[in-house]
Amino acid sequence: MKKEVTIKPVSLGIKPTPLYKLDNLSQAYNTNIYIKRDDMIGVSLGGNKVRKLEYLLGDARAKGCDTVITTGAAQSNHVMLTLACASKLGMAGIGVLSNSGVKEFKGNLILDELFGGTIHFSNSRDQEEIMAEMTALAADLTKQDKRPYIIPMGGSNSLGVLGYVEAAEEIFAQGKEMGVTFNHIFSTVGSGGTYAGLVIGAGLHSPDTLVTGIEVSDAPFPEIVAQLITDTLPLLGTNDYPAEFKQRYISNVGKGYGVSDEHTVEAIKELAGLEGILLDPVYTGKTFSKMLDMIREGQFTSDDHILFLHTGGAGALFAVDMGLEF
Ligand SMILES: *Cc1c(COP(=O)(O)O)cnc(C)c1O
Repeated sequence: MKKEVTIKPVSLGIKPTPLYKLDNLSQAYNTNIYIKRDDMIGVSLGGNKVRKLEYLLGDARAKGCDTVITTGAAQSNHVMLTLACASKLGMAGIGVLSNSGVKEFKGNLILDELFGGTIHFSNSRDQEEIMAEMTALAADLTKQDKRPYIIPMGGSNSLGVLGYVEAAEEIFAQGKEMGVTFNHIFSTVGSGGTYAGLVIGAGLHSPDTLVTGIEVSDAPFPEIVAQLITDTLPLLGTNDYPAEFKQRYISNVGKGYGVSDEHTVEAIKELAGLEGILLDPVYTGKTFSKMLDMIREGQFTSDDHILFLHTGGAGALFAVDMGLEF
């Protein structure tokens, strides 16, 4: 039975984003590798947060809010894209940055400035403490007759997840048009919302597809994602869910969240060299590198159709030390 869904997303990105086969890479590894270019979504340097923000900022708008507050590490793509999207909607944007990552005025911090956002550097890296700081900031703004809206780290709550349920629908529709059934999708798991949305979307539209989540931090993802799925299902207007959502987590934290490593940089160079596509050292490079390892290990054949989700992140190329020299 269909329930009435009242959530109205705002339009921010250019969709559908491109999805196509990586011919050179596929030939090199004798399998079929495709890419979904959410890095080309058309706001700033692109990235997965734009789809989440369509729902989150839609909610903010519906509630009459005029100021958006969110958080992330110093080089957060999510903060940068929130400021970009807020400016596009005529809202004020504030980023409360945790005490982690590259804090020099580089990469996404430069973009934060260009988008006219206000940046607060927190002394904490504890999510609860930072949430308390954002709540206090919101209370101050309310006293000044502003209407603040707080978005959690990574935009990962039920509304954000809806953006990737929608993306999954888009992916399978594009596959159908190409006559291709993706039996594997690879996605980065950072705060979990993107993966949660893809898993739900695959469960609803292509239950045989295995979505593999590559973890780039040490957070307890199976629990986090399970909670996000539970929170999101009531918003979907259907009760026809699979009994179980297929999930697979593989870690590629490497030297730690946000820290680049040689193996990742090699993978970034490989895709750049073969296909002219840029990955980043914090998220997509680690996911792509793990996926390539699995392909090299012979886990896939010429019958497989593997989709890599490009979630953006190029700003980090200009901030994070990748050990590259002339
Ligand atoms: C945030 C981010 C991710 C992770 O997405 P989550 O929904 O937080 O798990 C992946 N890639 C890039 C480039 C990101 O900025």
